[in-house]
Formats: sequence, C-alpha cells, structure tokens
Amino acid sequence: MHVVIIGGGFCGATLAKLLDDVNGLETTLITKTSFFEYTPSAHKCITDLSYQGYIRIPFNVFLKNTHIIIDEVTSIFSDRVVASSKEITFDFLVIATGVDYPIYLENKKNVFKMNCSQDALKIHKMLKNASSVIIVGGGYIGTEISAEIACNMKDCKITLVHSQKRILERSPLVASRYAEYFLRKRHVQIILGEKVIDHKDDVFTTNSNRSLQSDVTIWCTGTKSNPFFIDDLKGDIFSKDQRIIVNDHFQLPNHSHIYAGGDITNIAEEKTARKAEIHARFISRNILCQCNKKKCRKYESRSSPLVISLGDFYGITQFQQMVFAGLGHGLLKKIIEWWTLQQFQ
Ligand SMILES: Cc1cc2nc3c(=O)[nH]c(=O)nc-3n(C[C@H](O)[C@H](O)[C@H](O)COP(=O)(O)OP(=O)(O)OC[C@H]3O[C@@H](n4cnc5c(N)ncnc54)[C@H](O)[C@@H]3O)c2cc1C
Repeated sequence: MHVVIIGGGFCGATLAKLLDDVNGLETTLITKTSFFEYTPSAHKCITDLSYQGYIRIPFNVFLKNTHIIIDEVTSIFSDRVVASSKEITFDFLVIATGVDYPIYLENKKNVFKMNCSQDALKIHKMLKNASSVIIVGGGYIGTEISAEIACNMKDCKITLVHSQKRILERSPLVASRYAEYFLRKRHVQIILGEKVIDHKDDVFTTNSNRSLQSDVTIWCTGTKSNPFFIDDLKGDIFSKDQRIIVNDHFQLPNHSHIYAGGDITNIAEEKTARKAEIHARFISRNILCQCNKKKCRKYESRSSPLVISLGDFYGITQFQQMVFAGLGHGLLKKIIEWWTLQQFQ
C-alpha cells in the first residue's frame, strides 16, 4: 500500500513519522521545504536570527524510510497527484497543506506577512533600520509579535491595530485584558475597532479615516484556505470558506481513501498546531484500520490548552474558560516547543 502525504507541517510531518516504519506501507511525503518548522515560535526569529536553526529539523533526520519529494503539488486526481508534471500514484492520500496568511492590501510595499521563520528574517532585516512598526491584527499571532518586539526592540514605536473591540477576542475576556495591559505597559499604542483598508505613499488609512505612518508593517489579519490543486477531484468537497469537508474519520466525501488533516479541514474548532498533530494520529490509525479491514475511529473535537507567549518569560495559558497569566507562561511555551521538537529527533 502506498500512502502519499502532501504537506510537511504539523499534521503531515507527524503522520509521516508515525507511518515511517510501518511494515507493508510505503510512504511518500511531498512538501515545499526540506525541513519541518515549529511555526508557533517563528516570531522569535524577528528579534533573534539564530532561533531559526533551533526550530527547523530536516525531514531526513526523523524520516528514515519515507520517500521525501521537495516539490509543490499542482493537481490531485482520485488515484494520483501531479507535482512538477511528475505523476505519483497512491492507494491512500493525505492532504495536509495548511492555509495561507494573505495581505489584503493592493500596495504591499514594506508590508510583510508572518507565515514562517523566513518571513521573520525579512522583518528582522527591515526593523534593524526602522523606528516604527504597525502590526495589523491583534489575534494570537499579532499579539505575540507585538509583545516580542516590545520586549526585545525597545526603541521601536509599535502600533497595534485590531478590528474588534478587544485583542484576542476569541479568548476569555480576562486573557484579552491581561495582554492589553502587558502591551500598553510597554508603550504599545493599541487601536481597537478599526480596520486598515488602504495604503498609499507610505500612509495607511483605517475605516475610521485615521492615517497612520510607519517604516514597517506586519500583516496578521487571519487565514485563507486556497486548495486550488484539488479542483479536479469530483464531488462537493469544499465548505463555503474553501476548507476541505471531512467526515469524522478525516475522509473526504465519497473518497474514503483520501484524507485531510490540520488547518485545511472544515472541522469547527480553533486551528492549532496541537490539533493538527492529533488529526495526524487519528489519520494514521484509520489508514491502518482500513488496511486491516477494521472499523475506523471517530474523531470528536475536544478543547486543548493554548499558550500565548508575551516576550520570553511572560504569557497566557488558557484552557476552556480558565486563564492563567503572568511570569512563567512564556517559559511554558518554550518547554512545549522543546518537547515537540524532541518528538522529531
Ligand atoms: C506565525 C505563526 C504562529 C503560530 N503560533 C501558534 C501557536 O502559538 N500555537 C498553535 O497551536 N498554533 C500556532 N500557529 C498555527 C499552527 O502553526 C498551525 O495550526 C499548524 O501549523 C497547522 O498545521 P498543518 O499541518 O495543518 O499546516 P502547516 O503546518 O501550515 O503545514 C502545511 C505544509 O504544507 C506545505 N504545502 C502547502 N501547499 C503545498 C503544495 N501544494 N504542495 C506541497 N506542499 C504544500 C507547506 O509548505 C507546509 O509545509 C501559528 C502559525 C503561524 C503562521
């Protein structure tokens, strides 16, 4: 049986590792880079370039039997995938290509997205000669970046613009309040309830007609699913927001040998690295169940803890409606990072 996995992020890399030495399975991982990257710490590379080496692990370190193809998949059919005009057939396919983090502005000059550590290095280079930065979006990523710069680049004037009434609005109120207090105390200007809608001649305009100027802007306003390469598959496989519809076994409708996991799925839950890993574990078991003609296991989404770092030492840990914040939670995130990276050694 040949399993093809597309995407070597949290879901794809975890799954490849789980299937790497399973007897009777041949596994191929097709992904754009030659390494796994721990993206939850990518923002650290904005202030510390050396961090990149720590959060990247080449696939050949932990995948000894898997075929690794560094390429971009451009089409998927029910029995094969196409990458750089090469066709690879499969018995099982797993789509784990994550989502994009687009910039919704026409003029993108000096506007950077923060998708991975390579983006962080570009931002680092620009911030070296900058005295001001605008961060657009006060969700998890925008808040962590604001705190990282506020703690480690103290001369840089930071403005955080967020369209909602509070930052981290998907978290309990107490988490938002703590993050806001932490940032304001470190002189971050926070503008709430406004959206940046235009950028002309280095001036950003919000929907309240406020004008803002900065040397560098970091765009963190959310994700977009764009799995254009799946268009050739038959059936209704996309949700309204272009995520892939999966059943509770992670299989696509009418394609029981094709699975999807991680951020690209339409499962109604907070999209996190931990969830993507859990999806990989379910998919691995279900592929083995299918091979052995056993019943597949059903996935039920459960809350899992989320740690938001605010600089190196401070942070917020939330689990359901419980929130713990303060000194030490930044270190907790580092312990999780260390533990996760150990799994890939
Ligand atoms: C800056 C940042 C900070 C984050 N912080 C946190 C955090 O603190 N905690 C947390 O839980 N989550 C965090 N997340 C979210 C977390 O990283 C994602 O939920 C997780 O990575 C999703 O895993 P995935 O496997 O679905 O996709 P990804 O990890 O995004 O992996 C997708 C992979 O597919 C590859 N790919 C895409 N298209 C193709 C193609 N056509 N062909 C071949 N390969 C392809 C990509 O190159 C990538 O390697 C953060 C994300 C970012 C960007």
